[in-house]
Amino acid sequence: MLVKTRFAPSPTGFLHVGGARTALFSWLYARHCGGKFVLRIEDTDRERSTQPAIDAIIDSMKWLNLNWDEGPYYQTKRFDRYREVIDKLLAEGKAYKCYCSKERLEKMREDQMKAGLKPRYDGHCRDDHSEHDPSEPYVIRFRNPDDGTVAFDDMVKGHVEFKNSELDDFIIQRSDGTPTYNFCVVVDDWDMGITHVIRGDDHVNNTPRQINLYKALGAPVPVFCHLAMILGDDGAKLSKRHGAVSVMQYREDGYLPEALINYLVRLGWSHGDQEIFTREEMINLFTLDAITKSASGFNTKKLDWLNAHYMKTMPSSEVAKELVWHLNRLGLTDLSQGPNPEDVVKNYAERTHTLKEMAQKALCYYQDFEDYDKAAVKKWIKDGSVDILKDALESLKALDSWDALVIDKTLEDLAKRCEVGMGKVGQPLRVAITGTAMSPGIGDTMVLAGRERVLARIERAIAHFGA
Ligand code: GLU
Repeated sequence: MLVKTRFAPSPTGFLHVGGARTALFSWLYARHCGGKFVLRIEDTDRERSTQPAIDAIIDSMKWLNLNWDEGPYYQTKRFDRYREVIDKLLAEGKAYKCYCSKERLEKMREDQMKAGLKPRYDGHCRDDHSEHDPSEPYVIRFRNPDDGTVAFDDMVKGHVEFKNSELDDFIIQRSDGTPTYNFCVVVDDWDMGITHVIRGDDHVNNTPRQINLYKALGAPVPVFCHLAMILGDDGAKLSKRHGAVSVMQYREDGYLPEALINYLVRLGWSHGDQEIFTREEMINLFTLDAITKSASGFNTKKLDWLNAHYMKTMPSSEVAKELVWHLNRLGLTDLSQGPNPEDVVKNYAERTHTLKEMAQKALCYYQDFEDYDKAAVKKWIKDGSVDILKDALESLKALDSWDALVIDKTLEDLAKRCEVGMGKVGQPLRVAITGTAMSPGIGDTMVLAGRERVLARIERAIAHFGA
């Protein structure tokens, strides 16, 4: 059997961490089985679906490198197909038009609640064959079986069973003629040959209704796998107030996609106590039976730790791609006036926690900075610093190779000559070149900045602090 999974987000907001985890698990399972992965945009709720949300979902999937084999399919482009299936269900008596007024439904609900019953549609229009004016509004309901049970063996939750008497005749087409989620999802999963439905457990209560619909359509019922929710650091359901929850926000905050993916795979799935997985390992090891039943807690510290790990261990060419995105975001579009971003990564991967921070620190190698950091100036620019800067300028100008080791040696000699510690040489130079007191080794810093820029900045600092 060809395994086919799908990710089916409703584009009503940005792709959040929970959605990304669902996408990842579906993608991993398809890849593990050598199957196919489908992306489907569930946009039938036209009021709440937006193009920016669709774009954000697609951008996030691409950034996370979760490639799809089919799609994106859009439900709004499949209305003819839904119409066809609804007509068939109506013709077979498996669905019916319901003309119940809002008032009637409200009254029924109130009466049921008063009697201590669970509110559910009473089937009033099931066998109503009275004439209706064509202008009279109606919805279309699915005729749910009255008796028996509907059961499924969820890959995470185990055996789940509902009594049909607890389910009512749910609406499959609204009065405005649009089909509903519970209906479209079944038609789509059937048409698209989905074998495994992996989704959040907020959908568990929809599943028995959907199974009854599959059966009514004579469609094969897929395997279900409902993922437990993700909790925030504080144990409450993960929400916006826990900080970044949209995938693109993590990108903006400077995380690598590999770090987020590795972080997400461990949210509800495990393989012994292994924490770090390459993508190949994840694909090889991922099975549905290793998904945990209990809710998983989000832990920002662990994500930070993974990010630091990937910044240091991934090929610098890969990390550099992400750095360039951040530099662009900071308004820097012309990188030709500075070092190769890979060299920035090599020098800064150990010194920064995020790509955002790295980009901010690297900006000074590509364009002039405005102000010197006040604390750095206070601490490192003292009597005598300007003389040292002047001395350094002359020694550096005399070098015929611009090499970190040669520069370091030259400045060490200078320190000895002036009978001061290296700090009194290196730090004022750092302030002059980067505006701050933090950068890689002074030779490396100067190589990153480039000869012309270093000499110009030392001159600028001499003029500024010497005045
Ligand atoms: N569109 C639904 C959602 O975003 C998911 C439906 C499904 O996976 O079955 O919650």
